[in-house]
Amino acid sequence: MMGEAGESHRAGRTIVSMPTRECDWCGRTYTYTRGHSRFDTDACRVAYYRDQKRGSGPWELVCVVCGEPFTATRRDALYDKGACRSKASRHAVDS
Ligand SMILES: [Zn+2]
Ligand SMILES: [Zn+2]
Repeated sequence: MMGEAGESHRAGRTIVSMPTRECDWCGRTYTYTRGHSRFDTDACRVAYYRDQKRGSGPWELVCVVCGEPFTATRRDALYDKGACRSKASRHAVDS
């Protein structure tokens, strides 16, 4: 039976010999059995390589004005919303 997963005993449980690593895509820690595996699920692997292929987002970035994290479609995006953008440009004009 595979019904053991998802219990609330994750904290404090010591993994003895099973190797673990973090998924290159979602960052989740998982146990891997194959040395070449970089992802916890096939979905993560597909998403990762699709992203590599496109060479574009979405990127997890932080707004340079208000410091709020946001998802951008451009890697070099600086602002999470138009208000922050105009705030920054207005500030630049003023100074
Ligand atoms: Zn993953
Ligand atoms: Zn902002």
